[in-house]
Amino acid sequence: MSQLPADADARRAVAPVICYPVETLPQPDMALYRRAREGATKVAQWRVAPRDAASFRVDAGQFFRITSIEGPQVGDLNLWNANDLSERFYSGKTRALHGTHLTEGQRMWTSFPALRPMATVMSDSLSWYGADEFGGRVHDVIGTRCDPYTGNLLSGTQYHHCCHSNLTRALADATGMSLAEAEPHVHDVLNVFMCTGFTRDTGQYFMKASPVRPGDHLEFFAEIDLLGALSACPGGDCGQVHSSDTAACYPMLIEAFAPAPGALEGWEPPVRNGYDRSHGR
Ligand SMILES: [Zn+2]
Repeated sequence: MSQLPADADARRAVAPVICYPVETLPQPDMALYRRAREGATKVAQWRVAPRDAASFRVDAGQFFRITSIEGPQVGDLNLWNANDLSERFYSGKTRALHGTHLTEGQRMWTSFPALRPMATVMSDSLSWYGADEFGGRVHDVIGTRCDPYTGNLLSGTQYHHCCHSNLTRALADATGMSLAEAEPHVHDVLNVFMCTGFTRDTGQYFMKASPVRPGDHLEFFAEIDLLGALSACPGGDCGQVHSSDTAACYPMLIEAFAPAPGALEGWEPPVRNGYDRSHGR
């Protein structure tokens, strides 16, 4: 360990500042969204098989709900601009803006150079969970997605139903791309229903059995036209292991709802980011 300076305590006592205060962040009109949701009707549904992924499409201004059915199950969510796959969910910036886990009123943001909201969390039946005594919270944007490369690195395995591979197959099927073409579009996820945090002693990423139960849901408002893919993680409730066929896994349900005509009067999808991209030249 490095040498302790004489003023170590004083340096540690410096108070933190929030990196990105969100007071100036464009706020969603939740009252408008809620009114639109009240008159919305279901227009589609998709079932995600255990240890597999399904793709789905929702138009800007629609709602989509992810529900746990049959048993506790964690889902790994990828979202893309349905009209431009290069604009996709940016987990790291979403984390920097909102914190390690998402809940009602917070948003999923897109990658540079668009950097705009792509989905807003409307309702979260697990918002009661808050933070547990281990620092665990639900719906994180700190994990990546379970993948076969890390499994191979750590254990020499060849496992094909990690969320990364499930999402790759789902995107390939949705777009007609080959697996090789689809794979680079798969990105770090929103871990729906997953309960995670960092250990206090070593700062390591931990998971624990999700508090999700059948009937629990996480619902979003689609800010732009979305192509999504959801993987029912091979870790099941992620209470023990992932990246294997050991854990009990269950299907998940995705439903889309369209508001009544005129219900979003005055609302427009958010514009792309206003930075001029001249980068000092
Ligand atoms: Zn997974």
